[in-house]
Amino acid sequence: MQTFSIDGELCSPEEARIPVTDHGLLYGDGVFEGLRFYDSRVLKLSAHLTRLQHSAAAIGLELPCTRESLRSAIDAVIEASPHDNGYIRVVVTRGVGPLGIDPRQCENSRLIIIADELTMVTDEARINGARLIIASTRRLAGDQLDSRIKSLNYLNQILARLEANAAGADEAVMLNASGHIAEGTADNIFIVSKGVLRTPRTIDGALDGITRGIILEIARELSIETREESLTTFDLYTADECFLTGTGAELIPVKEIAGRKIKQSPGPCFGKIQQGFRELLKCDAAFM
Ligand code: PMP
Repeated sequence: MQTFSIDGELCSPEEARIPVTDHGLLYGDGVFEGLRFYDSRVLKLSAHLTRLQHSAAAIGLELPCTRESLRSAIDAVIEASPHDNGYIRVVVTRGVGPLGIDPRQCENSRLIIIADELTMVTDEARINGARLIIASTRRLAGDQLDSRIKSLNYLNQILARLEANAAGADEAVMLNASGHIAEGTADNIFIVSKGVLRTPRTIDGALDGITRGIILEIARELSIETREESLTTFDLYTADECFLTGTGAELIPVKEIAGRKIKQSPGPCFGKIQQGFRELLKCDAAFM
């Protein structure tokens, strides 16, 4: 069941409406965050709020409220939600304006918060590993749209997702314009080769994922060598292990990429990191 708040006010599903002239709808002009709450507390809330602020700053969008009132609005939605565990979408749109893309014409940005449950893959894929394809749709290059901006423009990810759906796969891997691995359509990708945990750099088109950051931290604590570096499909096909991470996705092992079987799925490194992630969820400091 979904719970809504618009501009800081809780509202019913019937009341959760925005005008059709909102530039978030007309032009995808806005930014968002996806957060997850466990026992009614948001994991890495502070990091999510900072990323939202950075995304907004990068597109010259003034947030409609302070960081503190945003925290309160999120808390209120969690409190009103019937779920103790779930997913929260925070959206900030440019707001209502006349037709024409000029953002100066929009006076007030708008805050939308939605809480719900979210499942990204089947239980089968979560346990035994997901099947991925390599999408022909490329991730936009950083000099076109910086991958660190979590904007309302997800069309190229949606095109890649359509390719995965058409192939009957669980998810698609997106490459950047030069053929390096960027990420999944809504998650970051990791591989393990010879005991080293490797993930694409943000400059190669990966979102600076909050879960990605958590995983790198857990790995370092476990003394697993980590590398953020450019990766190719060859690296994926020859990896010992592969997995996806994201706030929505959490941790998903990968068993097959473009018809090539991954050696171990779920593998031993994934197992240790997943255990570390579970431990983190017991830690108060992770919910600041
Ligand atoms: N990449 C993309 C394109 C995403 O939409 C997401 C989900 N927010 C991720 C990666 C994973 O990032 P995070 O761990 O911050 O949710």
